[in-house]
Order: sequence, then structure tokens, then C-alpha cells
Amino acid sequence: MALLASFCVGWWVTNAFVTDAITDLTRSSDSTCPIYDYVRPETVHSTILDKIMRSLVFREQSAAKLSGAIQFETTTFDTSPSVEDNPKYWAEKFQPFHDYLENTFPLVYAHLKVEKVHSWGLVYTWQGTSDKKPLLLMAHQDVVPIQEATLKDWTHPPFDGVYDGEFLWGRGSADCKNLLLGILESIEELIKIDFTPQRSIVLGFGFDEEVGGRRGASSIADLLTERYGPDSFYAIIDEGGISLIEQEGLTLALPGTSEKGSVNINIDLTTPGGHSSVPPDHTSIGIMSELVYELESKKFESFFTPKNPIYWGFQCIATHSKGINPRLKRDILNAGTDRRANRRVREHLSQDKLTRYLIQTSQAIDIIEGGAKSNALPEHVSLVVNHRVAIESTVDETVSKDLTQLLAVAAKFDLGVYDITQARQLRNDTASGRFEILYDDPLEVAPVTPINDEHWLNLAGVIRHVYEEVAYPEKYGAENPIVVAPGISTGNTDTRWYWALTEHVYRYRPGIAHTLQTKAHSVDEHIPFESHLQIIAFYFEYLQVVDALA
Ligand SMILES: [Zn+2]
Repeated sequence: MALLASFCVGWWVTNAFVTDAITDLTRSSDSTCPIYDYVRPETVHSTILDKIMRSLVFREQSAAKLSGAIQFETTTFDTSPSVEDNPKYWAEKFQPFHDYLENTFPLVYAHLKVEKVHSWGLVYTWQGTSDKKPLLLMAHQDVVPIQEATLKDWTHPPFDGVYDGEFLWGRGSADCKNLLLGILESIEELIKIDFTPQRSIVLGFGFDEEVGGRRGASSIADLLTERYGPDSFYAIIDEGGISLIEQEGLTLALPGTSEKGSVNINIDLTTPGGHSSVPPDHTSIGIMSELVYELESKKFESFFTPKNPIYWGFQCIATHSKGINPRLKRDILNAGTDRRANRRVREHLSQDKLTRYLIQTSQAIDIIEGGAKSNALPEHVSLVVNHRVAIESTVDETVSKDLTQLLAVAAKFDLGVYDITQARQLRNDTASGRFEILYDDPLEVAPVTPINDEHWLNLAGVIRHVYEEVAYPEKYGAENPIVVAPGISTGNTDTRWYWALTEHVYRYRPGIAHTLQTKAHSVDEHIPFESHLQIIAFYFEYLQVVDALA
């Protein structure tokens, strides 16, 4: 059973003080934003934790493992073939990487059952001795490609995995071979201390997350659902979230408890052709341009409601920050009951692009194509609009906004409108031409993970324990605690395939640099190496804590 400390003292002297308080889930602050109690394993293996965080030998060995993993170019592309169509394509990318994992983690391969799903997905099962719900840890093996033109801009070649003593550089160092390796390293450490899980631990590593996860995570989810049934997992933890971030003088850890939805809207316009010497007032390009202008002129509504995890994160900032502007603080705390305060908070958050899209559906005109020749009227123009759907909204609402605007433009230019997705003629075709609209790859907003339960309390408590007592005891503690609050990510993860397995889905990767700082997906992706060691320490502790829970 995990132990919750009833008050905050250094973990190396706490055994005398800890109370067996799992049934007493009292929190040490007011309920708007509690500072969660520390949660530690029954036995804290301080020498192992010290080795993970501070031993130079361990650090070098760990860096060598991650560096080796980065040297496999496990890139996936939007144009990558299916596994069935071109097995060789995938085998060349992933067989060497699988061999590497097997050679690098002999204890894992000796103690866990390893299965390959849809050829290259990896599922590891560390069978528990009890029938407690298993825990699922996720990561992905693939990485985003490098654009040739940017190769010269890298400080170190992207697939060399250079470790300079402080940082580890390369594609996948932050997204997310660090997480994949970190999980395996923590399990090796647990095997070394003869830990035998009561609760099964399952690892699911997809191989095409960066292009949607249809081949990898989707197949793994099917296997796990078939094997364990719906709602069968204790919790799922995947990449994502923010750990740690300083805001308004506070240090926050923000495990993601939901994800925005998304949808691509494809719009095609076909009009009669002709010679460009006798053009109409508006060619199809002109009409499509007007539609683009209209779409961009009308923004989506913003929301600041308790449904959005971000709401609670800001309650934390307002509750605990000493530096925050007093008026903003008041407005955030009153935003649930006072409309004007709510509007002012939304206006404040909308000033910054990074926070604006946490509370609003985004729209990005990403592709436009049309026209072929300088002396011929364009007969066809196509447009792709990408939306990330706000937590309070739906794919339907998002589509409906664009469709309303499309119908208005169609009426103005006397054009037909055909909805391909619904197979519906929305406006009759005319001699002037027709629009066609298709909603591609719709993904609803992820169900919001509850935070008023033991699952959350234990996650938050272990985060505090690992950061305040293990990683940075000199920096954090009772006087300067880490505030754990829920967050969302504006992008999507492979968890989209796993919703049926549990309502407790967390997107959380330990570390001290967030996605923008690590330059994930761009030139010079890198991590401060201590971030990687924190992944190992976190899972080493979290797996023991969760194992002991009922
Ligand atoms: Zn990723």
C-alpha cells in the first residue's frame, strides 16, 4: 500500500512520520486548487534513486542507450505505405530498432512477455500476481522526418544522438524515444531490486503515431480491448502534458487530462473553364479567396468553463501565485459565477497565441490549390482547413460554422453545394458551378479524465515526491511546492485509440523542458539530460506506488 505523508518533510527522514492515510484523502489546501500530499512507495529505495539522478556512471550509460536509439531512423511519413502493401519498407525501419531494444534491455526481455502487433507495434506484459486492473504505459517508436533543406541548420546531425554531457541531441530525443527508453530503463531497475508486480504492467509502443497511429496504436488497442475488455485498465499514461513550467512565480506540473478534437475540412470548387481573355468578374480562385477571407474573419467562440482542465490550472495560479495581477486573480476566481469576469479572463488568455487556443477552436487554412495556365480560367480550386476543436465544442459545431459561411458564399455567387460526407445536396447546382465539402479524419474532443479521485491524487503525489524529494530537494519543498493541475494539449496523441480501456488517461512525460523548449518536430530537437533521468525515477516510484494500491 502506498503511503501518503500527512505533512511535508524530507523523504529521507519520513518513515517515522508517514501515516497510513490512503483512506483519508485530505488535501493540504483549499479545494479550488489543493497542494497534493506526497505519495511514496512503501519502501523508498533512496540509493537507487540517488544513482538514477546523480551517478555519473549511470548517467553515461543511460545517455548511451538513448543515443543508440536515436541512431535508428524510424521516420514515418503521410505517404508511408500500409504494412500489408510494403512489408519491406517497415521491416527496414523497425527490425533494427527492435533488435537494438532487445540487446539493450536483456532483463526486460527476460521477465516480460513481448509481442509484436501488426508486425511492428510492441506490447510488453509484466504479468502481475493479482487480478488488479493492469496499468498501461505508452510511447511511440516512430519520429517525424527531417526536411533535407534544414539539415545544415542542426547543431549536431539529427540521427547521431550526440550527448554533450548536458544535452542529448537528435530527432526523437524529446518525442519520444526518451519516454520509450525511460520506461524500459525504470523497469530494468525494478527487476534489479526483485520487484514483482501484483498489478500487471503493460507497455504499448506504436510505430506510426506521428501519422495518426492507424497501423500501430489502433492495432494495439484492438488487441488489448479483446484481451482485457472495456474499462479494464487502472490507468493509461502516454506522452504529452507539461512538466514543469513556471507561471506567475509558481512551478506547475500539468498532466494532460483531455485533448482537443480535430477535423480537416476539404472544400472543392468547380466552375466552367474558358479563355482568360473573356473572364467572369470572379474566377473560382477569386470566389475561393472570398470564402477564405470570410472564414478567417469569423473566429470561433472562446470558453472558460470548469469542463476545460485549463480552467483548473488557472484556478491554481490565481490561488497560489503571489505575483499575479490582483484584478486578474479576482477575475479567474470569479469566472465560474461572474460573466464579466469570465469575459475578461478570456480576453486576457486570447492575447497570447499559446493560451488562446487552449480555450477556443482554431482554424488554419493549410492548403489551397488551383489554376493551371496563365491563359486559361481555373476550373478547379481546392482548399483544406484544419481545425482543433475546443473542449466545450464538437466536430459538428465546427463543421457547421464553416458550412454556414460556405452556403452564404455559394448564394452570393449562385453556386451549388454538395456535402460528400453526408451525401446531401445542400444547394442545387447551377450553370455557375458547385462547391463540394468533405470532413476528413474527424476526432472528437477526448473524454476528460476525472481529477477528484485517488488515481489523480496518487499521480500528483508521486510527481511532487519525485521532483521535490528526489530530483530537486534544494529547490522545492513545503515552502515552494510544485502545484499539480490538469492541462490539455492542443495536439493529439495515440491515446485517441485507447479511450475504451479506462477513463483515467493521463498525458504526462516527466522532464524540465516543455515541447517548445525541446524543439520537438523541428531543427535541433534536444533535451537536458536530467529530464531523461527524471522519467526513469518517476516510473521507478510510480510503478511501485500504483502496484500497492487496491
Ligand atoms: Zn510524440
